Amino acid sequence: MQELWGRKVLEQELNDSSMIAKKYQTFPTMQELNENEIQCLRCGQIHLKAIVQLVNHSYYCPECIQLGRVDTGQQFYHLAEPKPVKRNVHFSWEGKLTIGQQQVSDQLLTTVKNAESRMIWAVTGAGKTEMLFKTIHHALEAGFRVGIASPRVDVCLELLPRIQAVFPDEPLIILHGKMAETYCYTKLLICTTHQLLRFYQAFDVLIIDEVDAFPFVDNSLLQYGVKQAIKEHGSLIYLTATPTKELNKKTEQNELQTSILPARYHRRVLPVPKIKWCHRWHEKIKKGHCPKELVAKIHKLVDKNDVLIFCPSISLMEQLKGTVEKKFLETSLACVHSQDPERLDKVLKMRNKEYRILLTSTILERGVTFDGVSVIVLGANHPVFTMSALVQIAGRVDRRQKYTAGEVWFLHDGCTNAMKGAIKQIKKMNTIGKARGLIDEL
Ligand SMILES: [Zn+2]
Repeated sequence: MQELWGRKVLEQELNDSSMIAKKYQTFPTMQELNENEIQCLRCGQIHLKAIVQLVNHSYYCPECIQLGRVDTGQQFYHLAEPKPVKRNVHFSWEGKLTIGQQQVSDQLLTTVKNAESRMIWAVTGAGKTEMLFKTIHHALEAGFRVGIASPRVDVCLELLPRIQAVFPDEPLIILHGKMAETYCYTKLLICTTHQLLRFYQAFDVLIIDEVDAFPFVDNSLLQYGVKQAIKEHGSLIYLTATPTKELNKKTEQNELQTSILPARYHRRVLPVPKIKWCHRWHEKIKKGHCPKELVAKIHKLVDKNDVLIFCPSISLMEQLKGTVEKKFLETSLACVHSQDPERLDKVLKMRNKEYRILLTSTILERGVTFDGVSVIVLGANHPVFTMSALVQIAGRVDRRQKYTAGEVWFLHDGCTNAMKGAIKQIKKMNTIGKARGLIDEL
């Protein structure tokens, strides 16, 4: 029975299909909107019937097929969540919040007590996870079901041990596309945003971490999933370091309450990116040359810190690696990207200072922390570097307590709005942080 609480799944997704014989609720999988169109009720996408018709004349949804095919020959099984029952939940956290974190934590708790929603806009490296603990504890003790979802598997995997450590006696499950574990009912769970498509009115509190990250941003399928997964009077909490235009608009129009945490726990300003002209960087790398501006910059930065070099594409990065290696024969370096089977190992080696220079695709733009690094974005004017990506990348620098004078450099041959916007946003946060007394001057 428990397996179906708050879920909306197909028969083949059940661990125990004998359950089908018991009392359950069913929903149609798809809904015909008119003569020509049909909507999938798992992911909300609307299709032309002529395109999604199967040979047996039923219809299917191509959009969410990675979760198993939905077609009109099937139905969803569901049972309503039981009513919340108050209980005691062991809370094991002895850390201390900064004044800024405490304010946000208090606002969040009030939001959940009032069954409202809120966006938390906290700068990179502000320590946003800690601000959730008190609210999660309150929600669990109230008997609520709490979901923490992120568009990125890496973020989910990183959250799991941290959350489990704070609630050591609480059953906790993680759901993502690549897992082998079978589903079971828990009051607290972590999942990728895709997995929310399998829930229906399940969560009293639903936290979406890194809401601006791919693939959630501008993805109507995942946004439909969120609306379906949360209870009617549930609290939706968005966490971000770089809010989308849509979320900012909602804040401005007073449709969404927002807490801003403009400063990091160590009370220093965010490093503001500096820009440097790098003439025809793309052409030069393609021809097997290393732009001289890049060589000069690496020389300067590597004296003080390790250096992360963000590249706009994998092929360009691999070409560049060979040329950088020739210029820095004595320096250990590597390159890493999302398809790299040694990715985790290389990140670990960079952390352990076995490499001094790491060339990377945008894969390391968020979710990773290194001690003592400077960052260069090579070809910062490339479209892959959106404003939010640039803010995140700049946010890799100066995250630890110890100050190492790390720098952020955008090398470009034509300044973009994304570059200007990223710099403006970082400066704005520093200004707010100073005004609120959350930043000390160096
Ligand atoms: Zn679908």
